[in-house]
Amino acid sequence: MQFSKLANYFFKLESTSSRNAMVEILGELFQETEASEIDKVVYLTQGRVAPLYEPVELGMAEKMVIKAISQGSGSSEQRTVELFKKTGDLGEVAQKLGEESRSKNQGKQTVTEVFEKLLEIAKTEGVGSVEKKIGILAGLLRESDPLSTRYVARIPVDKMRLGFSDMTVLEGLSWMLDGTKKHKDRIEAAYNIRPDLGYIVKQVKEAGLAGIEHARPAVKTPIFSMRAERLANAKDILEKGGGKMAVEPKIDGLRTQLHLKRNGKNCEIRLYSRGLENVTGMYPDLVAAAEEEVTCDDVILDGEAIGFDPKTGKYLPFQETVQRKRKYDIDLFSKNFPLKLVVFDCLIYNGQSYLNEPYTKRRELVEKLLKGNKIIVPAERHLVDKPEELKRIFDEEIKKGLEGIMAKKLDGVYQAGARGWNWIKLKASYEGKMNDTVDAVVMGYDFGQGKRNKFGVGAFLIGVYDKQSDQFKTLSKVGTGLTDQEWRELVKKGKELVVSQKPKNYDVNKIMNADVWLKPKLVGVFRADQLTKSPMHTAGYALRFPRLDNWRTDKLPQDATSLKEINEMALLQKKA
Ligand code: ATP
Repeated sequence: MQFSKLANYFFKLESTSSRNAMVEILGELFQETEASEIDKVVYLTQGRVAPLYEPVELGMAEKMVIKAISQGSGSSEQRTVELFKKTGDLGEVAQKLGEESRSKNQGKQTVTEVFEKLLEIAKTEGVGSVEKKIGILAGLLRESDPLSTRYVARIPVDKMRLGFSDMTVLEGLSWMLDGTKKHKDRIEAAYNIRPDLGYIVKQVKEAGLAGIEHARPAVKTPIFSMRAERLANAKDILEKGGGKMAVEPKIDGLRTQLHLKRNGKNCEIRLYSRGLENVTGMYPDLVAAAEEEVTCDDVILDGEAIGFDPKTGKYLPFQETVQRKRKYDIDLFSKNFPLKLVVFDCLIYNGQSYLNEPYTKRRELVEKLLKGNKIIVPAERHLVDKPEELKRIFDEEIKKGLEGIMAKKLDGVYQAGARGWNWIKLKASYEGKMNDTVDAVVMGYDFGQGKRNKFGVGAFLIGVYDKQSDQFKTLSKVGTGLTDQEWRELVKKGKELVVSQKPKNYDVNKIMNADVWLKPKLVGVFRADQLTKSPMHTAGYALRFPRLDNWRTDKLPQDATSLKEINEMALLQKKA
C-alpha cells in the first residue's frame, strides 16, 4: 500500500469522533491492506513501529523533529518554530510547510518503506545519533506528500491523535471479517494472551477467526494480568467463591511477570510490569536470583515484586519499593533496596499453557518450582472455609502492615486481562469512608490563581476509563491535597504530554474543560472521603476531598480504575 493512502485513512479517522465510524474505517483499511503489511499498518495507527511491550522508541525530542521538518521542507527553523507556537502540533506544521514546498517525487513511498525508515531511526544510537536521526526523518518528510508528513512528523513525538485505543482496533478487525462487531470478545480474549496487535491482526487477516483459535501464551511475550473483583466482607467472599477458597496475603508491591527460557547453558529472562513494560533492566537482583533459583526450562510466573529489609525479612511499604522502578542508579538502589518476587501464579510451564487449568493445579506448580528459594518465593496461602477464619487472617495481615487479602476460587482459571470473580480482594476499610483508592488518569489542568500559581497549575482534571465507549470520563478536579514536591512532579510529568486540543476520546462537560490538555498517560492513585453523585462529571460521580497517594508508573491509562468499577464502588459504599 502507498503510505499516502494510509495517510488518507488516518485523516478520516482523525476527522471523526464517532466510535462507530472509526470502527468502520478501520475495518475497511484492514480489508484493503495486504497480509504482508497489515502488522506494520496496525503499529503505525498506534504511532509505533513495534508492539507496545517492545522497548523500541524513536527517541526524538520536539526540537529534533523541528529541525527535521525545516530540513525536509527547506523552511527556516525560525519559521517552523513560529508555526509550532501557533498550532502546538508538529503534524500540522509539517503539512503546511510541505504544501508550500511541493515537489514531484513526493508521496511514492510504500507503508513498508516508511515503516523501515522509522525503525531505522529507532535503532540509531551512539555518537552522532541525534544528527543521524534528524537526517533520516528529514529525508522521509522530503519524500512524503503533505498529508503524509502530518503523520510522519507526529510519530516520533508519540502524538498521533487518532483518538482511539486497542479496543477500537479490535472492533475494526471484527468489522473487517463480516461488517459486525460481534467477534470482538473472541478477538479480545486472544489479544489478552498475546497483546501484540500486529500478530493478532495478521493471524485474523490470514486465517479468519481460526487464526487466533489457538492463540497461546509465549515466553517473552507478556500476558495481560488477571485482576480481582472486590467485596466488602468475609461472608460474601466465601459465598461467592464456592464455600472454600485459598487466601493469600495481598502484597503491596509492583505486579511483575517473570519469563524464563533455558537452552543449555543459555538462560533468557524477561520481567514485565502490568503495563506490559519490559522492566528486566531495572531489577538485576531478581534476574540473577531467577537464574539461580528457578531451575526449570520454560516458564511464566506471575507475582508481586516487593522491597524487604534483609535484617528482619519484613516487607517495605509501596512508596519504598516503587523507588526501584527507575532508569538510573540501578545498581545502587538494588543494593540498598533489595527485592523479592512473591509468586502467586504459574501461566506456562515447560512450554505448556496452564491458563485454563484450575487454580489448585497452578498453585501446586508454584510450590514445586520455588520450594526452598530465598528471593523468588511462593506467596503464603491458607485454605479457608469459615468467614471467621478469613477475617482472622485478614486482621493479621493488616496488623503486619499489609493491604489485606486475596481470596481465590479453587477451581478458577486464569482470566488474562479480565477482572473476574475467581479472585476477590478484601482491603482495610477506612472507617466507613470510601474503602478503596481510585487510579485515575490526569486529563488536563487549569493555570489557577493564588498559592498554586507558582507551579503553573491550579487544579487538574482526573478521569477514569470506560471500555464500552473507549473514552475517558471525568471524575474530579483536584486542587488540594498535594505537597509542593508533588505539584512540581505533576508539572514535570505533564510537560511531555501536552496536546493542543482536547483528545477525542475525552468525554468532558464544557464546564469542566481544562486550560491545558494532556494526552492520557499519567496515572495517579487517589484517596477520597467518598464517591458522591455528580451531574458535572461524565463518570456520573465525583470524589469528595480527593488526595493524591502516589503515581502509578506501572499502569497503562486503560488499566486505571474503570467506569464499571466506580459504579460498583459506589454500591459497596452504600452497603458499608
Ligand atoms: P487491580 O486493578 O489489579 O485491582 P489495583 O491497582 O487496583 O489493581 P489493588 O486493588 O490494590 O490494586 O489490588 C490488586 C493487585 O494486588 C493485583 O493486581 C496484584 O498486583 C496485587 N496482589 C498482591 N498480592 C496478590 C496476590 N496474592 N494475588 C494476586 N494479586 C496480588
